[in-house]
Amino acid sequence: MEWDMNRLSRYPFLAQAREYVKAQEIPLEEMLSAKNASVQNRALKRVEDAVDGAEIERDFRRTREDNITDLLSYPLSRFLVASTGDRTLAKWFSHHEGERARAFLSSEPLDIVLSMGTELGLPTVQAPAGAQTGPVKAPWEVDPRALPDRGEMEQKELWLPFTSFLPARRNISGASWNLVNLGVVNGNLRLNREQYTRLLQEKVRERVEEGLDMKVRPPKLESLDAMISRLKAKVDGRKKDYSPTEMGKLTITRLPPCMRQVLGMSQSGENLPHHGRFALVTFLHTAGMSSEEIFKVFMNAPDFKGDIVRYQIEHITGASSATSYMVPNCDTMKTGGICYNPDGLCEKEWMTNPMIYYRVKGKKMASKREDTAS
Ligand code: SF4
Repeated sequence: MEWDMNRLSRYPFLAQAREYVKAQEIPLEEMLSAKNASVQNRALKRVEDAVDGAEIERDFRRTREDNITDLLSYPLSRFLVASTGDRTLAKWFSHHEGERARAFLSSEPLDIVLSMGTELGLPTVQAPAGAQTGPVKAPWEVDPRALPDRGEMEQKELWLPFTSFLPARRNISGASWNLVNLGVVNGNLRLNREQYTRLLQEKVRERVEEGLDMKVRPPKLESLDAMISRLKAKVDGRKKDYSPTEMGKLTITRLPPCMRQVLGMSQSGENLPHHGRFALVTFLHTAGMSSEEIFKVFMNAPDFKGDIVRYQIEHITGASSATSYMVPNCDTMKTGGICYNPDGLCEKEWMTNPMIYYRVKGKKMASKREDTAS
């Protein structure tokens, strides 16, 4: 499918957009010269918006000049991100570009959405024989900003092979995404358009992040130095604002390997898989951290939305619901793929829950201290 410039500028990670930019043959020095100031400003804004988690601006009425600026700004913004060498920024940036694409996709005709899905590895299939067909009702929570502008678009059912669905769904939270809550027929899942574009957002994020060379050595150019310094200062600002200064009653050295891993992922700006987020909240709560302290743990996540995170924490810890959830057992953690790096203590036959690890490790450390003191 041949896409026009306006549309292409919304999705600059697609092959056609990359080919367009490549064909312009603009050397980096020229891109960073005064004559391309608008492209530089746009590239900086792209990255700064990602750091701020800014609302996506959807501007459909644009001049050809605007479209070209947008297209050229994308590779430059990638270069700026890579030049900072900051992997957390890379996560924030790729997440924001994914959100941006999804916001535009919500207003596109279905054939455009499906064409992008095919390029990004989510080709849909025909409805399986014998499958119940018809509009897909949405029992899941939908972000109203992401709803298609034309209501009927969302009602169209789409079928996706299970094997394509599973990896794309990996980092999406929410019980509505569990297989039991989705229609599965002959290895294919029945989705509505909103769900499909949410999966596409993940595929866009992956594409944006892949190939970012975080070890790149930027050339010594005054304008480039200034932009990189500005971005680094902004990133440091967000990290300083949001990094937990203390972990309450938690003793880091007692953490089981699984919790070390998910905590590390969360603090370095990676989106946690749903099971990981749930397990971490229950664990930190049981270990004695307050809701506010737990909240700060999630502030570096690329998809951080304060009100949603607060709601989830309060729901899981029982502050806003009748149930306070327990830390999942090791068996459940294993099934969910989040029993990371088990060590010798994990191999004990009585090790059935990460909280047991934490308590036993605490006792071992206390008795070691007593031995040293006596
Ligand atoms: S065995 Fe249990 S405590 Fe150890 S890493 Fe796995 S889930 Fe965590």
